[in-house]
Amino acid sequence: MLEGAKPLVSAMSSIIFTNLFIEVALIYGMHPGDTVAVETKTQTYQGIVMPSVDKKVFVLKLESGYNLALERKKITKIKVVQAYNSVEKASSSSVSPKKGLKNVAILHTGGTLASKVSYQTGGVVAKFTPEELISMFPELPKIINTTPRLIRNMFSEDLNFNHYNLLAEEVAKEIKNKVDGIIITHGTDTLHFTAAALAFSLEHLSIPVILVGAQRSSDRGSSDASLNLLCAAQFIAQTNFIGVGICMHETTDDLAGIILPATKTRKMHTSRRDAFKAINSQPWARVSRTGEITIITKFHDPPKAAFTVKPFNPDLKIGLLKSHPHLQKEELAAYKNFDGLVLEGTGFGHFPINNIDEFTKENTTILKTIETLAKKLPVVMSSQCLSGKIDLDVYETGRKLQEAGVVGNSSDMTPETTFIKLAWLVSNHPKECKELLTKNLRGEISERQPYQQD
Ligand code: GLU
Repeated sequence: MLEGAKPLVSAMSSIIFTNLFIEVALIYGMHPGDTVAVETKTQTYQGIVMPSVDKKVFVLKLESGYNLALERKKITKIKVVQAYNSVEKASSSSVSPKKGLKNVAILHTGGTLASKVSYQTGGVVAKFTPEELISMFPELPKIINTTPRLIRNMFSEDLNFNHYNLLAEEVAKEIKNKVDGIIITHGTDTLHFTAAALAFSLEHLSIPVILVGAQRSSDRGSSDASLNLLCAAQFIAQTNFIGVGICMHETTDDLAGIILPATKTRKMHTSRRDAFKAINSQPWARVSRTGEITIITKFHDPPKAAFTVKPFNPDLKIGLLKSHPHLQKEELAAYKNFDGLVLEGTGFGHFPINNIDEFTKENTTILKTIETLAKKLPVVMSSQCLSGKIDLDVYETGRKLQEAGVVGNSSDMTPETTFIKLAWLVSNHPKECKELLTKNLRGEISERQPYQQD
């Protein structure tokens, strides 16, 4: 027995356990969700017990929202300050709905929000069931009645149009079940693509659908999973928002989540927790860690027609090509059998098409290739600049591209949203595709652009 350890019987009466009995304590008296005081030789911490995949590590969610991982062998005492109540102790699927709380479906698709480190491979793998997910966020049942469902368990870079259709159908099922809102847990890499895809395919949506991701997995001290998920839940619980949004960290602090517009958001950083930013737009709202909501942009009005799913045609081939110095015509010609192409031009929307000296002969062929493509399929310009709108009237390059059949002038959509919108239009409105590309359908094109003056 280690120094300072006490027999279980006396420990049970005072609910104080020593390190040798922690395993036993977890079985006999302590559950994820209990608020405990944990002592090491040097410090005392208070927080909520979180499930841990590593038996040598005790994970505690601190008041700040951070998860603290303590090596169990360093713990000298644990005292239960407040036991999790018996209803909340049960698994998420058996948590009985509470009167007065909104019913929110959680559709799980995978990604870091529901991932942990695999101690076999050292990598992060998505492996939680929805029940495990909810048990990791014990505060959730106090905010919403949740019915989590596993749709897929995959990294978001692997998603394609079939998955967008699957998700849209699952949303439709939940709407039939009369839920008040839906949270979709999703990997962050392509979260903004999926958000835009749902914004287009869920026509006349009448409830909130909020996509949530995390940049750091749930078992890491700096995980953003909990704040992002809880802020999404608070937003649905407290507002009458209708439409598709994204909820992620507002800043690198754990102070607030930000609700971002589905069609005007981009992942701007590989690892920061505040990686997602509204582009050429404002967020919908800010949700503080303690649940206060600040509305930033007026919400959509309720739809005037019945909800319907307008899916993507999964057989389509839509391309996205970035311009760069020394571009080769073969890069463009590769799209000749595609159904649509988004060009990510430089600046206002430019490609190297001007033959001005002995080194730029290839550019004439590039322009011809664009012209040939534009006769067969919609070719749409977007900009690789991070903000601002396309203007194909300022320079001769832009005018020549328009003459060659390139569309998309005056739009301020991100390239990602342009890609999704093009795919959706070719799927659902092939005849009016070019015309609708520059019309605002789902908030993807700003009506006014004061930021242009900046
Ligand atoms: N690359 C993976 C994904 O986007 C993991 C990262 C994450 O969840 O953000 O699903």
